[in-house]
Order: sequence, then structure tokens, then C-alpha cells
Amino acid sequence: MSLDAVPTTANDRATWIAGPGAKCCDPPAVPVRAYRIVLLGAPGAGKGTQAELLAQQTGACHLSTGDIFRAAKTIDSCLRTPAMTAALEFMHKGELVPDDTVLAILRERGVCLGCRGGFLLDGFPRTVAQAQALDGLLMTQRVKLDAVIDYRLPIDVIVARLSGRRTCVGCKAVYHIETKRPKITDRCDSCGCDLVQREDDRPESVRVRMNAYLHSTAPLIEFYQPRGLLVSVDAHGQPWEIFERTMRGLKGKDLRG
Ligand code: AMP
Repeated sequence: MSLDAVPTTANDRATWIAGPGAKCCDPPAVPVRAYRIVLLGAPGAGKGTQAELLAQQTGACHLSTGDIFRAAKTIDSCLRTPAMTAALEFMHKGELVPDDTVLAILRERGVCLGCRGGFLLDGFPRTVAQAQALDGLLMTQRVKLDAVIDYRLPIDVIVARLSGRRTCVGCKAVYHIETKRPKITDRCDSCGCDLVQREDDRPESVRVRMNAYLHSTAPLIEFYQPRGLLVSVDAHGQPWEIFERTMRGLKGKDLRG
């Protein structure tokens, strides 16, 4: 399948990124079928890229908790709540933000979970306590999870991927110093802005993030396995190959076609 054939969605996720005071510019029209999916996998396994592709294919909103924190980093520090300022400190070190803070942020955005367009949760839940809280939030919104996709890739491959990743400060396009080089070193092919290393992609942060994943997030596989929701996807290869595997896995769950 060519990914160019995949239709695009226009929702700007304003409510998710900025909180309940903000309204999405283009809330989704009622889809034929709303998909409610959790994306699991170590940081760097490619969840974000797959979430974008799945959002285009299914119309479901890409809800990333990391995006909320990154957006908060760009606003004036006087406008941030003390909890958000503390959360950004954890993020800076590559550590998980405490459950209480993450859950307070999620509760404010419960409406996004109940959205008629469905959702693709990326980066949440990351602990068993968060997964249990998600169950409660979904019940409040009267919706159910359809699938939990686990993107699988060996840790050493992930560390190489993350430490070589460079992101455009302008359009946020992602490059890699070995596998996806820009035409001009450290300059974005699309918009010409500088390419930088995300602070949590520095080697010292990557180590901390991997430990957090192994200790806190990997146990979620066992949490979801007995519910029959889990779809394991090999995350080697090009984004479109992984995307096709994902769609096949969802079909196996009777979610596609
Ligand atoms: P991500 O983009 O999902 O890798 O998230 C970037 C950083 O945001 C993580 O390394 C954590 O510091 C923080 N973060 C994002 N989501 C969560 C979560 N569900 N629980 C705890 N910390 C989180």
C-alpha cells in the first residue's frame, strides 16, 4: 500500500495539547467506526510515526502525552502551573513524570478520550497505575479500548535510533545522522531551519528513559495480555512496512476490513 493514498485529517488537537479551555478547530465528523487504541513500545520504537499514519488512516486523534509536555515547554514559564514546571524537570532528565501529575493532566482532557472520532494514545499509559486510572477514565466517558499495539524492537537498536535522531526546530521533521541524512548537515530539507537533538535524546537521558521503560512500562504487556487486546508488531524496517504490519494485526482483531 502506498502511504500517499492515505487520506489526511485536519484536527489540530487543540483541546489535548492546551487543555479544556481550548477547542479543536475541526472536531472529526462521525467516522464509520471510531478506533480507540493504546500504542505501547519503548521510546524510539516508532510509536509517534505510526500514530500519525494510523490517525490519517482511521481519523482517530493522535493523543501524545509527550506532546503536551513539549508544548508546555514553549510557553512563558510564568504561565505554567507549578506542577507543570516540576513535570518538565522530570522530562529534562529523561525520567517519568509522577503519576499524580500525569493523571491530573489526563483527567482535564477526559473529553478527548470520549471524542467521537476515537483516539490513538501514544506515551500513555506508562505505568500500571496509569493503566488502571485509564480504565476508570474510559468508563466515565462510556467508551472501551479496541486494541493495545505493542511495537517491538531490541533495546540496542532503539538506543542507536534515538541518539542519532535530529529534529527540525521549525517544522519538527525528523532526520537521522546515519539513516536519514539531510542534504545539508544540520539543516532541514523542507524549511531550512536548524536540526537539533531533542534534549531527552541525549545519551544520558536515553539510558534513563530505557530504564524507566523496562521497569515501569514493559509490565503493561502483562496487564493487557489477559484481556485479549494485545497486538504485537515487529518495529524493524521502514515506517510503511511497520504500518502494514499494524493494519494486518488490527485486521486479525477484526478491527479493519
Ligand atoms: P515521549 O514523547 O512519549 O517519549 O515523552 C517524553 C517525556 O515526557 C518522557 O520521557 C517523560 O518524561 C514524559 N512523559 C510523557 N508521557 C508520560 C507518562 N504517561 N508518564 C510519565 N511521564 C511521561
